[in-house]
Amino acid sequence: MAAHFDLLIRNGTCVLPWGMEATDVGVRDGRIVALGVPAEGTAEQVIDARGLHVLPGLIDPHVHLRDPGDTAVESIPTGTRAAVLGGLATVFDMPNTAPSITDVDKLAWKQEYVAREAWCDMGLYVGGTKQNIPELARLELGRGVCAIKIFAGSSTGDLLVEDDEHLERVMHAGRRRIAYHSEDEYRLQDRKHMFHRGDPHRRHMEWRDVECAFLGTRRLMALARATGRPAHILHVSTAEELDYLKDFRDIATCEVLVNHLTQVAPDCYDRLEGFGVMNPPIRGPEVREACWRAINDGMVDTVGSDHAPHSPENKRLPWPDCPAGLTGVQTIVPVMLNHVNAGRLPLMRLVDLLCAGPARVYGVVGKGRLAAGYDADFTLVDMKKQRRIEESWIVSPCGWTPFAGMDITGWPVATIIRGRTVMREDEVLGRPSGRLVKFVG
Ligand SMILES: [Zn+2]
Repeated sequence: MAAHFDLLIRNGTCVLPWGMEATDVGVRDGRIVALGVPAEGTAEQVIDARGLHVLPGLIDPHVHLRDPGDTAVESIPTGTRAAVLGGLATVFDMPNTAPSITDVDKLAWKQEYVAREAWCDMGLYVGGTKQNIPELARLELGRGVCAIKIFAGSSTGDLLVEDDEHLERVMHAGRRRIAYHSEDEYRLQDRKHMFHRGDPHRRHMEWRDVECAFLGTRRLMALARATGRPAHILHVSTAEELDYLKDFRDIATCEVLVNHLTQVAPDCYDRLEGFGVMNPPIRGPEVREACWRAINDGMVDTVGSDHAPHSPENKRLPWPDCPAGLTGVQTIVPVMLNHVNAGRLPLMRLVDLLCAGPARVYGVVGKGRLAAGYDADFTLVDMKKQRRIEESWIVSPCGWTPFAGMDITGWPVATIIRGRTVMREDEVLGRPSGRLVKFVG
């Protein structure tokens, strides 16, 4: 008897762990059960992916969905809707909301909320503070928790663990990999007096300079080495750090952002003003080149969007009152596909950075590769499709993107999560049925 499936994806070019292959994928009960399905195979639903690439469902491991606290700008329902429209099957959401996710009760609230309202699957960061260190070992094992997040330098929100003594105590609490925002808080504060309200926006990268990030990472690596606690350095933004981290591959993984691979100073500040201000800052062309070198020599483990929207009114405030952070969850996949078409990285490497990489770094169970037994998460992309990023396409309530007007070649045309098509050709389908991601405990 011919095999019968819930879903069959026919005629696509699949990005498999061992290479690209024209093959058919069979799905049953939300899992991939067959690669290579004979013509007699039948299914409840058949998707013809002729002319398309079938990627494993892509993961953005770094978003701030601002929920609770600022749902007029972004929320879990709207941000996950943006994610699936942009070709993402999973996002990992940061804890620096209002209030922050730093204890069992707030985590429980969010776990339940995700189960009701999220359009895609989610991992949740829990914030480390100087007060909750005794709870961290338990919190990091919570359902759906991808990692503890530590702000070693201040950014949006009130989470901050800046001194070595507390950082070391954090590293002794629990054992999973910790994700760090690495900028040296003392240097940030020491240099603040050199800058004034109303200075040009490009002063942002002078205040939060290369040494600020590099010093932060040197301090964290010394402590990680001493304690043996694995680290993940988020949004590395300097050539110096990328070079330095080569000696810490046994203890540290790292992320670069699509922004640092795409935007460049001073253009971003001259053109976008407050809408180009983020932490760590967008810097000169030498940083963009260093980030691409690190992508292609294998130093980088993950690429994130650091989707961190703010209201347009606030972004129009004079520097430094304009809050730092840029919209990005809906545009990360198109912008990265465009980089593939421009010859900056192979499609296989993109899949590693946006899928297998996050799965490896955070210990995801059942996601990260297109293989039998894994979740039936797929991002279908049309590598030839040309389209301009328009603000009218953005569904985050904040309503803007720093990539508006960018011409893209390569576009996500469908998002499938655990066998259900949740986005097809710009249309979001069904109802929210995202789940919490499982992690190796
Ligand atoms: Zn962030």
